[in-house]
Amino acid sequence: MNVTRTTFNEVMVPNYAPADIVPVRGQGSRIWDQQGREYIDLAAGIAVTSLGHCHPKLVAALTEQAGKLWHLSNVMTNEPALRLAKKLVAATFADRVFFCNSGAEANEAAFKLARRYGNTINPAKHEIISFYNAFHGRTLFTVSVGGQAKYTQGFEPIPGGITHLPFNDLAALKNAISDRTCAVVLEPVQGEGGILPATREFIEGARKLCDEHRALLIFDEVQSGMGRSGQLYAYMNYGVAPDVLTSAKGLGGGFPIGAMLCTQKAADVLAFGTHGSTYGGNPLACAVAEAVHDLINDPALLKGVETRAQQLKDGLNAIGKRYGIFEPARGLGLLIGAPMAAAWKGRAKDVVNAGLRHGVWMLVAGPDVLRMAPSLIIPEADIAEALKRIEAAVAELVALPQAVGA
Ligand SMILES: *Cc1c(COP(=O)(O)O)cnc(C)c1O
Repeated sequence: MNVTRTTFNEVMVPNYAPADIVPVRGQGSRIWDQQGREYIDLAAGIAVTSLGHCHPKLVAALTEQAGKLWHLSNVMTNEPALRLAKKLVAATFADRVFFCNSGAEANEAAFKLARRYGNTINPAKHEIISFYNAFHGRTLFTVSVGGQAKYTQGFEPIPGGITHLPFNDLAALKNAISDRTCAVVLEPVQGEGGILPATREFIEGARKLCDEHRALLIFDEVQSGMGRSGQLYAYMNYGVAPDVLTSAKGLGGGFPIGAMLCTQKAADVLAFGTHGSTYGGNPLACAVAEAVHDLINDPALLKGVETRAQQLKDGLNAIGKRYGIFEPARGLGLLIGAPMAAAWKGRAKDVVNAGLRHGVWMLVAGPDVLRMAPSLIIPEADIAEALKRIEAAVAELVALPQAVGA
């Protein structure tokens, strides 16, 4: 059957606006479209394919498990899930793990846990504190906790008991937190919000305030986790552990899986029957994620994240300066944002589109920030080639007369 990008407009719900190309194959940090054109992948499917496309060890883990056992449900447990959970517990602050299928589901579990936790102390202890520009997923609860009004508009009535504050504003948090607060939730690096790392003072202060008010501290590491920051989880860069942490995206390297990691105290709240998922902890997903974890939880790989991040940031900063298009790049590890310069505000997407014309796939984080989240093992030669292509794309964009009314 012949399908093209045009088919999308004929058969798909219009909630997405995919790029004009349709990739059909990937290997490492390169993808090829239906016409056989090749692209360097600096997007990794939004920080997901952190070991590139079709990594031989992931293909082996998936195909081996595919010949053994695909699915049981949680009426039975399974070996890949138990092994993965043991490894996550050994590698992090966590005592317990809950598996699900996406970042939104991991956060949904965390927020439900927070509500039940508050309830066990006092029914009035139900307030969740979150931050503007935060992104926690697209279920009704997670868009409500998220800090971007555009994602809740038209979906009202939305769940209540949620307060939003400016990110990195410790004084505001100190003012707002109370014994009615059941949880404070934050991304150690705001991803969709523009690649904004939390300050050390903010993370340390949030931990202290949560302890004082018996509130859970939840880190949403769906985007910043699994090696992307240069540490297994971004909280390790700050030396501050949460009570609950959510992981997804890079966790499965492209196979859908999510996880909520938590302390024993938090886990006790989700007693038998209180929460669940048919697919959560599926053997296929867990077998792949175990292979991902084995490869990424390795000091040499994590060190390589830092050198690659430096190479990419240096190259972006040079281009930004030469063409006056970006401000200095920011982020943590290989989660990199290049804010558009004042004259280019609102035009990050134009750079992404120009990049595709020149054979490089990048992302935006809002209208004003160009985002990059490549494979953690992208070859240095691919970064060098990608930078050449970005420069060609930017040179083309700078030379173009800006469309009237654009
Ligand atoms: C992507 C993302 C989510 C949502 O994950 P899905 O798998 O799309 O549901 C939640 N939180 C953060 C920080 C994310 O970047």
